[in-house]
Amino acid sequence: MPTKSKPKPKPKTQPKSKAKLAQAKLTPAKAAKTKLTKTKNAPQVLTIEPWREFPWLLHGFSTRPGGLSRSYGAPSLNLGLTQEDKRATVERNREIFLAALGATGSGATAPGAGSSARQPDISSLVTLRQIHSDLIHAVSSVPKEQLVGDGVITNTPGLVLAVQTADCLPVIVVDPKRKIVGVFHAGWRGTLARIVEKGVGEMRRHFDSRPRDLQAAIGPGIHKCCFEIGEELRPKFEAQFAYAGELFHKLEEMDPIREKYPMLFLTARAPGHSELPSQLFLDLVEANRRQLLDAGVAPRNIHVSPLCTSCNVDKLFSYRKEKGVTGRMMGAVGIRA
Ligand SMILES: [Zn+2]
Repeated sequence: MPTKSKPKPKPKTQPKSKAKLAQAKLTPAKAAKTKLTKTKNAPQVLTIEPWREFPWLLHGFSTRPGGLSRSYGAPSLNLGLTQEDKRATVERNREIFLAALGATGSGATAPGAGSSARQPDISSLVTLRQIHSDLIHAVSSVPKEQLVGDGVITNTPGLVLAVQTADCLPVIVVDPKRKIVGVFHAGWRGTLARIVEKGVGEMRRHFDSRPRDLQAAIGPGIHKCCFEIGEELRPKFEAQFAYAGELFHKLEEMDPIREKYPMLFLTARAPGHSELPSQLFLDLVEANRRQLLDAGVAPRNIHVSPLCTSCNVDKLFSYRKEKGVTGRMMGAVGIRA
């Protein structure tokens, strides 16, 4: 999620959150038994525990450890076709992830994979060329051409819908009544364009989902502790959301020398520039939770991962923290065939 503002060191003090987020435990799923587990690199997939009551549902957020990529330090489960990684490795990682989700395909041999008919079928995976938009696709089969957009929804069993992230939020929405699923990619641009709110609308428009039936999960992403943004973003959000004021917090930069010798600096600054520099942070998680609420999803049905990508680069990929050289995780959802 590149933005124009430069990464700065993480502030030491953080204001306490006013908003209480519904925090469900996202627990690592046991890796499904497949031939792939003979590699030592068993991946950890975060799942929503209450969703275990939906046996038809397949879902999860991938994490960093496990996998076969060597491009980002310790072997990792990079699921994105990044510059640094090899396509064959990423495809193997995708198989590992799908196996961990329990998405064993029809037996078709995936390109680049071995010949075992038992391996998960990565050709069932529906990905997007993500452009930080509000474009959402309703699909009933794996598209022949690469979809461009940031959301995908379906009622067709056998497909695995996925978005790729490394700081942006992956948001999964599920309709357990009608067996409809969707996944959305929400960085600040997509959030500003209301991708998730529109996503709920699209599930209603295409598949008659009722918002009160929906369940949602906001996966790991960059949290308000680390998501520093430029001042120019605040008015953009204020123009769109009545609650925008609740999404930002400011931290005055602490400068020990200035604090100790304030007189030294009083005259050294030009008029109008006497304020200490401050840092502005955006709460992308709360922004997307609010969109789900505005769309009619019940608060108790919104599950939020407590994991910040930037705070946890040992477990997760963070584009910001790793200055753009990092892998991608997936938030994925599907209906079992
Ligand atoms: Zn953080």
